[in-house]
Amino acid sequence: MKITSVETHILDHKLDTPFESASMRFDRRQHCLVEITCDDGTTGWGECLGPALPNAAVVKAYGARLIGRDPLETEKLWQELYNLFRDQGQRGLAVTALSGIDVALWDIKGKRFGVSVAKLLGGRMRESVKAYATGSFRRDGVDRVSDNSEECAAHIAAGFHAVKIKIGFGVPQDLEVIKAVREAIGPEARLMVDANHGYDVMEAIRLGKTAADYDIDWLEEPVIPEQLGAYRAVRAGQPIPVAGGETWHGRFGFREPLETRAIDIVQPDLCGVGGFTEMRRVADMAALHGVRLIPHVWGTAVQIAASLQFCAALLPDPPRRDAIAPIFEFDRTPNPFRQAIAATPFEHENGMLAIPDRPGIGFTPNRDAIEEFCLKDAA
Ligand SMILES: [Mg+2]
Repeated sequence: MKITSVETHILDHKLDTPFESASMRFDRRQHCLVEITCDDGTTGWGECLGPALPNAAVVKAYGARLIGRDPLETEKLWQELYNLFRDQGQRGLAVTALSGIDVALWDIKGKRFGVSVAKLLGGRMRESVKAYATGSFRRDGVDRVSDNSEECAAHIAAGFHAVKIKIGFGVPQDLEVIKAVREAIGPEARLMVDANHGYDVMEAIRLGKTAADYDIDWLEEPVIPEQLGAYRAVRAGQPIPVAGGETWHGRFGFREPLETRAIDIVQPDLCGVGGFTEMRRVADMAALHGVRLIPHVWGTAVQIAASLQFCAALLPDPPRRDAIAPIFEFDRTPNPFRQAIAATPFEHENGMLAIPDRPGIGFTPNRDAIEEFCLKDAA
């Protein structure tokens, strides 16, 4: 079995209503898929977290090295590709692009042996996973307090047990939103807040001390991800558990946060951390340090499929009889191609996602939809 081609597909859609997190504005949805084809006709699919066009350029740079290679040698190829840009690429695009390739190679490996990636990883610990709804960005031209409240109430009415809202725009207004959302979703629903590194330490502590009254499960990315000392200060200075990790890449990116206990919950992204190959290592490191792992998921059906496989195989920690089950980040923001590109979409039912037991990551492309949403003037 040999690799014959490595292609990228840039999916693109201009949003009617742009939306914002504390640190990023979304006028378009763009995601980079990776498709690797082998000489026996097998294809594997992956996805890269982050800006689509730069990711595609790095995938292309790696891709030339993969032609004629054995796709089953995932560790060997990962190491070889990582070494290629190590001196300038220990984090960031060099690793997010490598993630898309690695996920596609594991998809091929599963198809080659006729088993799901979860089984390759060691077995299915569960058949389904509880999803939480991610959304509540700031939208142009609407009142954030009522907009977020209405949106979150609708997620709970649709069966989700939990919602995550965006904060980091300013402490007084953020507290107003949190209070209104808690009232809208009732006392039982779980609520998480994500600052997208919009605060400094004093703001994050001030927010956390007051927001704790509204029963918040975690405070995500309170400060910029490079400031691990600031993470520790936020953790020490207020009572809400601190989460983070969607921008930390590779096992080396997670070492210091875990070893210095800068966080309570790590959120590696399968399509950013380095694919299945590296995600396994980060999961082992988190378990070693007794830190809970809840994957970050912000992508299309390809990433959802792959992340479901990872969640299926994630070992319970601690391994008690009624174990703590992982929960799954389920993006509810506007993206018309997210599920359209899958022949069998990954939709929730009453807030639960079934985990497919098909070969590879269990994704079958809808080629017409991929063609429809492909960026037409991509280089
Ligand atoms: Mg986040």
